[in-house]
Order: sequence, then structure tokens, then C-alpha cells
Amino acid sequence: MSTTIEKKLEVLKKYFGYSAFRPNQAEIVDSILAHRDCLAVMPTGAGKSICFQLPAMLFPGITIVISPLISLMNDQIRSLRQSGISAAYLNSSQSNSEQYDILNRAKSNEYQLLYVAPERLDEVVFLEYAKNADIAMVTVDEAHCISQWGQDFRPAYSKIPVFIAQLKNRPVVSAFTATATQRVREDILHSLQLDNPKIVVAGFDRKNLLFEVKTPTDKNKTVLDLIKKHPNDYGIVYCSTRKNVEEVVAKLKTNGIKAAPYHAGFSAQERTQNQEDFLFDKINVIVATNAFGMGIDKSNVSYVIHYNMPKDIESYYQEAGRAGRDGSQAECTLLFSGQDVVMGLWLIENSSDNDSDKEEIDAKLKEELRMKARERLRAMERYCKTNDCLRAYILNYFGEPDDLHENCGACSNCNNPNEVVDITILAQKILSCIYKMYPKVGRGLVIDTLRGSKNEKVMNKGFYKLSTYNICTESVQELGEVFDFLVENGYIQMVGEQYPVCHLTTKANEILRERKSLSMKQNLVTKAERKEKEYVTRFKKEHIVRDVAVYYNVNDQLLTQLKKLRRQIADNQGVPAFQIFQDSSLVDMCRILPKTADEFSMVSGVGAYKQQRYAAAFTKLITDFTSHNSVEKTTETGLALTAN
Ligand code: ADP
Ligand code: ZN
Repeated sequence: MSTTIEKKLEVLKKYFGYSAFRPNQAEIVDSILAHRDCLAVMPTGAGKSICFQLPAMLFPGITIVISPLISLMNDQIRSLRQSGISAAYLNSSQSNSEQYDILNRAKSNEYQLLYVAPERLDEVVFLEYAKNADIAMVTVDEAHCISQWGQDFRPAYSKIPVFIAQLKNRPVVSAFTATATQRVREDILHSLQLDNPKIVVAGFDRKNLLFEVKTPTDKNKTVLDLIKKHPNDYGIVYCSTRKNVEEVVAKLKTNGIKAAPYHAGFSAQERTQNQEDFLFDKINVIVATNAFGMGIDKSNVSYVIHYNMPKDIESYYQEAGRAGRDGSQAECTLLFSGQDVVMGLWLIENSSDNDSDKEEIDAKLKEELRMKARERLRAMERYCKTNDCLRAYILNYFGEPDDLHENCGACSNCNNPNEVVDITILAQKILSCIYKMYPKVGRGLVIDTLRGSKNEKVMNKGFYKLSTYNICTESVQELGEVFDFLVENGYIQMVGEQYPVCHLTTKANEILRERKSLSMKQNLVTKAERKEKEYVTRFKKEHIVRDVAVYYNVNDQLLTQLKKLRRQIADNQGVPAFQIFQDSSLVDMCRILPKTADEFSMVSGVGAYKQQRYAAAFTKLITDFTSHNSVEKTTETGLALTAN
């Protein structure tokens, strides 16, 4: 047993450069090495890849990794090769001869891991290879794609069990996902036919992320203001339409911000170019539709802004989760408007299947999928409107009890508790006014009457005689917000398309008769715009940590020089800087000050391969630097920045 553990740790250091496992990793690796199937649900950034890549290095046969997207495969293969691991992918972007070549190499056991898209699993050439190969493990990445309840259902994932059944020996099957509700988890277990699997569900809370919902009147301005707060950082803005993408990019560019667009309207080449520019830190902001980012492991993204409400919490958490992967503080802001809900519903009804790798599905299944999508959309809408802790809402959605108590300290609801106001009296006034004006009054007329307007309609219809006439001093906007809140929460129903009129629902009795009290998030729209509230809680205090040199008390100049060297190496090789070394490794170098190759190997993120390739250059820089400057080694050990 101890030899397995030693072996595990040896491989972890040798190939991945780490000397300890993150929570849950060892448990999963052990289970896989003992040939037990597993399902691991861990949030983005928790370190899922190592959980299958490490056993893949120890197994005698090959590991087939089923992965939904080309960009995802690309990124992982690039990282693996940087660590000296032999791996390849097969996908539709390659020519036949390239694919043929890769399969031949796989046949001669050249690879430890082979990544494939699910569509490949029943193709003759691939099947022929697989049936005769020594496949030790089949790993299903983004396993939620197998469930109709999941946010990215991929019918081709259903080919997986059939594929596995055709192999000469049943391999270990391991499945991984970052987002899965209880229902989706059950689907995965069942559909993949996992055999007595080890199930690991890691905590979903990403403590380093600040969650915010704003309802601004001018989204473009708000985006610009948010980005201006982060002049030297990298961020993603997600929009639900191409038109919004274009608009936001234009706005940012005219304000001197280095931004580029990413959506399906661009050629594959343009998209790759913009994506790489972002990965390589050449631009600060990428403005994208949700087509961007799956599998993008850019660790230094410090904010993700959603220009529109996304289609579900799963997508939201996944997209927002691309911020702060390096463990430092990051902000996730959602800009909500009622129009987003209308758009979301429209997209569900009109979702075309023009996504090239999705197969045709029949009408009945399509309607079922739509129904599920509408349910998820409604849960997303509730997130945008809740008065309660946003973090708790997300955790509960994923079936995780939250132990956040009253105040999570890092969401816009917890940080702005004053914005929750008691609206009982106002609600009583509005509802009873509707009752007295019944039937057939619209929203505007109710508000006018409450405010004592002398306009024609109010006067002509005699509403000025009502006891609810002129009993409110609030502005039209303020009354309107409470009115809309009452509609959204089912106290008032609007009937009719063109000139909707108000009806009281039976729920209105709770307020009118039972005297229930009611509160709402006050005036998100204007408050948020009028004065940008200061965050006085934990997040605010910790926010300065983005400057890692200050936080970890390392020499700023040395860190800058190390970054420069990393950039040169990365540019020479044509890979993103963070794939050479993450910031955390550079910080570690500043603390350990390695001057020999042996000392260099102690740095977190330095495995044997990276040691061999990069020790000389980095230790030389450090030696030169320390001979001209007085810098102290920090005795503190351990990883500088961890994601959890
Ligand atoms: P996920 O797939 O769960 O989103 P990744 O596998 O991309 O996460 O890992 C996130 C980051 O954490 C990567 O940069 C990875 O190198 C790093 N990481 C993974 N395991 C460890 C570990 N044991 N120690 C330190 N860093 C780790
Ligand atoms: Zn909170």
C-alpha cells in the first residue's frame, strides 16, 4: 500500500510539480488505481484533471478521455506536453491523414492519454483501433453532457456505454463534472452504467469569488465602469447575443480598453486568434457569447461580467467560475434586466440545432428538453431577484447545504443588507388601490391614482374620489418597482397582451387580509447606479491581495523579471505564459530563491520535465538578481496561491 502512495506522490511531483494533493484528489486517484469506477463532482479550478491524468500515468494501458469540445482538448494536450506527458487528441479539425497517423502512434503505445470527441466513438476506424487496444481507463470529462437535465446535453454522450461494452476488457470508468444537480448526478451514474462507483462531491463554494447582481439602466456604462476598476487585469464579458458582443466591444475600444469579440459569427480562425490573444495576455478583455471558454484554463482572470442573465445556474456558475482560478480574489457580476428573461425564453423556443456536432433529435424529445430548459431559466431568474445570499442560493441549487449563516461577506445581497426594505405598507396601498379601481386598470393608472395625479383619465373616471387617491409620496419609478415586484411574486397578475390590466390573485389576500409583511431588494436599478456602494466586509479588506507580490511579501522587481523571462519562453514556444509556469510558481521562486537545479525542483509546479527545461534560465536570473540585490529567502513553505 505504502508503495502505491509513494508512487502516487512521486508521479504528482515528477509530472505535475506538486508535492501534495488538493482535497479529494488522493481519494479519487486511490479509487481509480484500485480499479473502481468513480464519479467526481468538483467545482472548476478544484483540480479534476490530475485525478485522471495521474492514474493514467501509472496504468499500463492507454486512457481514453471523452471530451466535448475541441478547445478543451487543445488546452489540456498543450498543458500535458508542457509537463512531458505523451498525449494526443482526435477530432474533426484534423485531416484524415493526421488522424490516421495519431491512431497508428496510439497503436504502438506512444500515448498515455488519447482525447476524443463523443461523436468518434462509433466510427469504424476508431472502433477498430479501440477494440484491439489495451485500454486501462475511459474517462468521461464534462459528464453532465450525458443528462437531458444538464445544461449542455450532448446526445452523442449516450454512445459511451455501447462503446465501452465493445472493448475486450472492461476498463475503469471515471466521470468528472463541475456542475451537476442531484438529478443530473443520478443520470450520469445510471446512463454511464458505472459499476459500484466511488462518488465524490466536493464543496462547491468558491470562497475567493464575489457574487453581485446589478440591475442597471445603462448596461454599457456599467460594464465600462466595472472594467475601469481593473485596468491591469484580465476579464471576460459574456453576452447572450452577437449584437450585444459587438456593441460592448465597440464601447470598450472607444474607451481605450484592449478588448476583442468572440462569437460564432466569426471564422474559426478569427475566433482562435482572439482566444489566443486573451490566453497570451495580449488583450485584457474578451467579450463573448457562451460559445467561449469551455475548457479555457486561464488562471489569471480576475472578473467575469454577465451582460445578460445566462440560461441557467449551471452555465452561470461555470462561466463565472472561470474567474479566480489561481485562487486570488475575483468578481462575478451579473447585469440583470427583465428583458433578459424574455430573451432567454425566446432562445429556448427558437434554439436551432445548428451546432455542428449536435445530432438531430425528434420533436417529442425536443419539447421535453425545452420544458427542462424553462425550469432552469426560472431558477436563474430567481437568483437575479432574490433578497437572500447569492452564494447560499447557488450552493442550495446544487444540493449542498450552506453553512454560511447570516452573511457570506462576499455577495451583493449580504454586503448590502440595507437594500432590503420593508414594503408591506406600500404593497397594501397598491393592492387595495387595484381592488378599488377594478376592473380594467393598467399599471400606469394605478400609480397615477396613488400619487394623486390630476391627469385626464384619473379625473374623468372619478378615481380622485377613491380613498386610495393621493396616498403615496414615492416617485413613479419607486412605485413602479414595488408594483413589478408584486407582479413577479404572484400578487398581481397582468392580463392581456396589448393593454395589460391588473388582476389581484388569491395570494394578494395574504397582504390585504392576513396582513403578512413583505420585503424586497430596494431599487436595485437606481441605487446601484446613483452611488456605487462601498463593500465594507471581508471582501473589501482582502481585495488588495490581487497584488501578489505585496501579499506574499516577495520582491516585486524579481517577480517582474521572472514574469518577463516566462513571457520570452512562452513566446518562443508559442504557448500561453501560464502554461509554462503559473504565477504561484513564480511567487514560490521568489520565496525559495533556487540557485541550483535541485533547489529549483522544490518550487511548486516544477516537475522533472520543467526542471530539466527551465532550471538553467530561471536559476541564472535568480542568481544574478540576488548578487546585485539583497533579498531574503522566506522560510514559509507551501503553495502560494491555491484555489480553495
Ligand atoms: P478543474 O479541471 O477542476 O477546473 P484543473 O484540473 O484545471 O481544475 O486544475 C486547476 C488548477 O489547479 C491547475 O492550474 C492545476 O495545475 C492546479 N492544481 C491541481 N492539483 C493541484 C495540486 N495538488 N497542487 C497544486 N495545484 C494543483
Ligand atoms: Zn452572501
